[in-house]
Amino acid sequence: MPTSKNYSAIEKIIASAHEPMLLLDKALKVVYSNVAFNNKFSLSEPDSYGRRSFLEIRHDAFDIPTLSKLLLETLETKGTIQNYELRYAKNSENSKLLLNIDSIELPEETFLLLAVNDISSEAEQLQSFLQSVLNSTNYGIASYEAVYQKDGTIGDFKISYTNPEVPRNFGLEPGQVIGKTCREVYPGIFENGIFKRMAACMETGIPDSYEISVEHNNTTIWFNATIEKVGNSVAVTSKNITQEKTAALEIEAINTLLLNKNKELEQQLLTEFSESFYSYGSGQDFFNSLLLEIAAKTKMDYVLLGEVITEESGEECIKSVSVIAFGKVTDNFKYLLKGGPCEEVIKGNNTHYPNNSQKLFPDSRTLAELNAEGYIAHPLVSSSGKIIGLIAVLHQTEISDISYIESLLKIAAKRSEMEFERLQNEKLLEMKNKELERQNIELASFAYISSHDLQEPLRKIQLFASRILFREKSNFSESSLGYFQSITNAANRMQNLIESLLNYSSMDASEIHLVPTDLNVVIDEIKNNMIDIIEKRNARIEVAKLPTLPVIPIQFQQLLTNLISNGIKYNREDIDPVIKINAEIVSLEEFAGKQFWKINIEDNGIGFQQEYEEKIFELFKRLHGKTDYEGTGIGLAICKKIVQKHDGFIRAIGTPGVGAQFLVYLPVK
Ligand code: ADP
Repeated sequence: MPTSKNYSAIEKIIASAHEPMLLLDKALKVVYSNVAFNNKFSLSEPDSYGRRSFLEIRHDAFDIPTLSKLLLETLETKGTIQNYELRYAKNSENSKLLLNIDSIELPEETFLLLAVNDISSEAEQLQSFLQSVLNSTNYGIASYEAVYQKDGTIGDFKISYTNPEVPRNFGLEPGQVIGKTCREVYPGIFENGIFKRMAACMETGIPDSYEISVEHNNTTIWFNATIEKVGNSVAVTSKNITQEKTAALEIEAINTLLLNKNKELEQQLLTEFSESFYSYGSGQDFFNSLLLEIAAKTKMDYVLLGEVITEESGEECIKSVSVIAFGKVTDNFKYLLKGGPCEEVIKGNNTHYPNNSQKLFPDSRTLAELNAEGYIAHPLVSSSGKIIGLIAVLHQTEISDISYIESLLKIAAKRSEMEFERLQNEKLLEMKNKELERQNIELASFAYISSHDLQEPLRKIQLFASRILFREKSNFSESSLGYFQSITNAANRMQNLIESLLNYSSMDASEIHLVPTDLNVVIDEIKNNMIDIIEKRNARIEVAKLPTLPVIPIQFQQLLTNLISNGIKYNREDIDPVIKINAEIVSLEEFAGKQFWKINIEDNGIGFQQEYEEKIFELFKRLHGKTDYEGTGIGLAICKKIVQKHDGFIRAIGTPGVGAQFLVYLPVK
């Protein structure tokens, strides 16, 4: 044992150290080893002491040549060696040692101090931990070394490491792929863009992450991957997300299906809704029914339809047309637009306030009075594009089904706009009709009075003309007699005209007293009355079996007389007039299939241009000259009036040179 004081101080230090330490002399013989060292390397006391050569102790365990070289070097240089990593075989496993060697110069002797730090267990643990993580993780982790081509670009990657997860996806094991190139093992990456990403990351050093689908054995595998550059390689961490992806895709598909189903259902509900409109009646009934239906469908506390009106004060208000509160029609009311959500709607702004409406519109008394939380509306727009009102739902709690309600309101608004317009037109029509009626009465009374008054002087002309003719005939020259005849003819024509006019103008005033009348009998009477003219013109009247209809007999006689006599009058010179009369029941599409009696009076005369159909029914309208055909232009106007008085209508069809057809339509009662 060395005895020097210095030495014993060193020994004490070594003895107290926790880490294995050994003191050697110049001959590399053990001078002292501490307990930690003995324990670590399984040395017994006698082994360690007695200046045995260190290299002989457990020489099987150390890399002796390297170690002796190191020790001798240190002695020679009198330096130190720090953290030299040394392999140490223990229980057939390689451990790692960190060796620190110091030469200690004492006056009488030089020593070498070896401090050993066993890092093997730490490294081993870390290594095995890492390995187990790599093996068990479901993340694919692999390292690919860039393979450069002659031109300096990356042509491929060599698989320098992979955990089992990466090749497992393709039915391979790490042993089958490590050391091979990507072109050999994963040729697909040159097509799907992964190779490009790896090369780009290698060149730029910028990490990249992506999601990709890869086809393998007719199945699609989805990966989520990250590429990172590490030295001359890229590390690719990937995760097979096929399951999540398929699940997500399935959920998406189910969601789309559900959404479509919902839309379909909503559409169906909306269609049903709009199909029920026809049963709502019109006017107030319509609006009430419509709003009741909305309330039933949406379960909203209030449904309101209102028009914008301007008060005398100039303030704009909503005047409700129909209001439903908790499923029942309630009284209409009026409220100021200012400060409420309706003002926004009328201005063409937001129409949705599904919650917080009272907070948003603190000045709205209507919202406060109805204690409304949610509000959704749709504007009513006139055909000229002006917002004329709105249809709104209000609810005392938040409204959630916004899109459905909005669609419902939109349809209801469209239909309400039409109803408003219809009502307006109806009002307009009513006003126009009244005005027309007033004018007609005025005209009729004027015509009546004037024709009545005209009759008196005319009778005098006729009376005195006939008296003069009777008394002075023998004194008259031939030409004077001719002139007198003309006066009498003109006076007769005028009487005819006045009578027709009186007839026409008294038509309005006459009472409607319908009597079941056999039209065959009426025609027979007419034929009797017209026997002279029929014979004179050699006319033939062919009558099919006619019905018995509820009519004003005298008027119907006049109607048919006018039509038959026109048929004879407007004949062609070359052939005898033939008038055909028949009747049948028809249903007319333009009157929603309603049934009418159609009485047809047809002739083979000169006819007329179809474009004059309307004109010929007007008062005093004549197509043919006075010189060719005698007439007043009042006959057909009277016919039209008679038919209208019987709730029917008359049409005329003419073909010049072929004939005319007059069709009298009377509703079947
Ligand atoms: P008018 O006294 O001139 O016959 P109407 O009112 O009866 O007056 O007829 C109006 C015009 O319609 C006639 O002037 C004639 O031009 C035309 N018209 C009426 N009936 C016939 C017919 N059967 N054939 C051709 N034209 C006709």
